Amino acid sequence: MNSQDYDRLYLSPPHLGRHELNYLHKAIEDNWVAPVGPNLDGFEQDVCAFTGAQHALALNSGTAAIHLGLRLLGVGPGDEVLCPSFTFVATANPITYLGATPVFIDSEAETWNMCPNRLREALEDRRRQNRQPRALIVVHLYGMPCRLREILALAEEFGVPVLEDAAEALGSTYEGRPLGSFGAVGVFSFNGNKILTTSGGGMLVTNNAAWAAKARAWSAQARDDAPHYQHSELGYNYRLSNLLAGIGRGQMGLLDDRVKKRREIYAWYQDKLQGLPGLSFGPAEPAGGRSNRWLSCLLLSPAETSITPEQLRLHLETHNVESRPLWKPLHLQPLFAGVPVFGGAVCTDLFTRGICLPSGSAMTETHLRRVADAVRELIPV
Ligand SMILES: *Cc1c(COP(=O)(O)O)cnc(C)c1O
Repeated sequence: MNSQDYDRLYLSPPHLGRHELNYLHKAIEDNWVAPVGPNLDGFEQDVCAFTGAQHALALNSGTAAIHLGLRLLGVGPGDEVLCPSFTFVATANPITYLGATPVFIDSEAETWNMCPNRLREALEDRRRQNRQPRALIVVHLYGMPCRLREILALAEEFGVPVLEDAAEALGSTYEGRPLGSFGAVGVFSFNGNKILTTSGGGMLVTNNAAWAAKARAWSAQARDDAPHYQHSELGYNYRLSNLLAGIGRGQMGLLDDRVKKRREIYAWYQDKLQGLPGLSFGPAEPAGGRSNRWLSCLLLSPAETSITPEQLRLHLETHNVESRPLWKPLHLQPLFAGVPVFGGAVCTDLFTRGICLPSGSAMTETHLRRVADAVRELIPV
């Protein structure tokens, strides 16, 4: 299908509000259409205010933010970076950009995020080998907070700095504090499918002023302070456009509403589908954690139902409903063949049994009913 299909229920389409256009209009009227201008400043301030971070840097993708963040943590050729296996490839690709290698860590069954026990195994193993990992990336998959208390304690004990990939977790909290504000560097994505979007975009947050200034310079080709173009360091073209930052400002004002709606969607599916044979919901919130429920996910248990996630996906397709398997673990990706992994059975099982349902915050009850009815048609009580 080439063009937008208006009858189709998409997994997580963009959902704009009323104010994005005002910021865009103003930027065009005032000729602030380059990657510099008041919308960029405003968007960064909005993210600082929301997360409590002291510095924010608007970038053209979340992946770019991870790349710059890892470089700030000193990751370079030959280094190892600890990273969950159960995540989107964008978490790990920047490790490779920097000439380092990932070391993958399995999930635990409750939050589906990094297992603190497997992490301890990896840290102890690397200590025995005298190979100190340069950084640790934590991910809050589907918006679900990982077990931050245990993981941050381990990172501290072993002296490994943490990059927090909160690309899917804007608006989620842990012990009352916004996710993205726990790592030495935090990262958000404003890609088209995320809870808020600038069509494409990312944000790096940190409390370290020197790091923020460095990342800012690197994101704009690392130009030295000179009238001519002078460069001492390697840079990138990673800055966000001031136009797109205007969309971001409009979107930030909607965040509380969007989180509320996504949580309602998850609860609605649970209410209507929980109890069907072999079907369960996840991931679950850890103590102190509150998820934005970016995507509503289901698991099917082969011991209790013969229906597979792929059968369910194809069935939903016949109703013009988009759904998607859970993230395929990175240790199973051909791209990362041979990369070390600690554990792996938990996230492999989740991948085999799971599926994401349409979760866009613009969904109406009629839309939700269409999905739930289609699920019930295939998996009768
Ligand atoms: C979306 C996403 C990213 C990357 O963000 P982009 O803005 O698409 O580059 C990184 N990590 C996770 C977990 C994501 O879901």
